[in-house]
Amino acid sequence: MRIEAANLESTRPLVLAIDDSADVLRLLKSRLRHEALEFHTASTGKEGLAMARQLNPALILLDIELPDLDGFEILRQLKERSETVQTPVIMLSGLSSAHDKVTAFDLGAVDYVTKPFEVAELRVRIRSAIRTHLLLQMLSQRAQIDGLTGLWNRAFFDRRFGEELARCSRHDRPISLAVFDLDRFKHVNDTFGHPAGDAVLTGFGSLIRREIRETDIPCRYGGEEFALIMPETSPEDAFGVCDRIRHTCEQVAWPRHPGHAVTVSIGIYGTNGFNGTNLCLNYSPEYWVECADRNLYAAKTTGRNRIIWNTTELAGRTLPRAG
Ligand code: GH3
Ligand code: MG
Ligand code: MG
Ligand code: MG
Repeated sequence: MRIEAANLESTRPLVLAIDDSADVLRLLKSRLRHEALEFHTASTGKEGLAMARQLNPALILLDIELPDLDGFEILRQLKERSETVQTPVIMLSGLSSAHDKVTAFDLGAVDYVTKPFEVAELRVRIRSAIRTHLLLQMLSQRAQIDGLTGLWNRAFFDRRFGEELARCSRHDRPISLAVFDLDRFKHVNDTFGHPAGDAVLTGFGSLIRREIRETDIPCRYGGEEFALIMPETSPEDAFGVCDRIRHTCEQVAWPRHPGHAVTVSIGIYGTNGFNGTNLCLNYSPEYWVECADRNLYAAKTTGRNRIIWNTTELAGRTLPRAG
């Protein structure tokens, strides 16, 4: 999940061509072979839709007349699904009436090229569509990334935590949420200056990243507060991860104040599974944040540099950090 905007440019954009003509697919493949693209093909609508969902292409070239679904129907379905709604689609068709073109653009196509096509022209249209797509992707990711730490920001957390909670609830899977608050952070700012405080926030962001799994979602919740969404993770395992973060944090010798350690208090709320219950009021994202926050507050008031956690099963009972 830790997608840096800069990485987008370094991967070869994947193009999916959906066309029932083997000749067209062969021609595209051979004439686009010198482009920095990864080229995939599908010869039916159903196969194309499945590949589009699976491969997450940077661009789809879509024929209209296909043996199973027509191209307009495929386009409609692509625009209905969250995985493919952002994918640019260039229609590539023998149909050249204004009505067909208007329909395609109305349904969300970014371009329309008629067959027989001029390869040189198609090539620049492909480049242009991919360039715009990558820029939009970069902008939308930047809007979700915290500028100081590079972690996901609060807006992203709000959306993503709801999605993950709903998914784990639907499939009866474990999930845990941890909230972190740096201890006596105001003192760091007051004593060593704001830039030193900023360096601690950045360093703590890197530290979280280093200690977690690829599937965990680290966010800056705001100020000196962080949140970590851990899908598929029991509260016991979440405790293990967080205790590593807590312990590593207190060990760090900060370049600007090596003699002054920074500690962190943590609250965790999680579940081992939802026992078939659907997402109900008790399992709303707000409720989970509230429970984790309550535990964080307890960690603060009982000495700081510690973790308090509980689970849906323990219904309100809190256990102090073990060891
Ligand atoms: P506690 O242990 O109770 O959490 O004490 P605390 O000092 O950490 O808590 P408090 O809420 O009093 O202070 C939080 C501080 O975090 C105050 C605020 O100036 C600082 N802060 C918030 N955002 C930033 C930031 O982006 N950069 C810097 N340097 N400081 C920040
Ligand atoms: Mg066709
Ligand atoms: Mg705070
Ligand atoms: Mg604090």
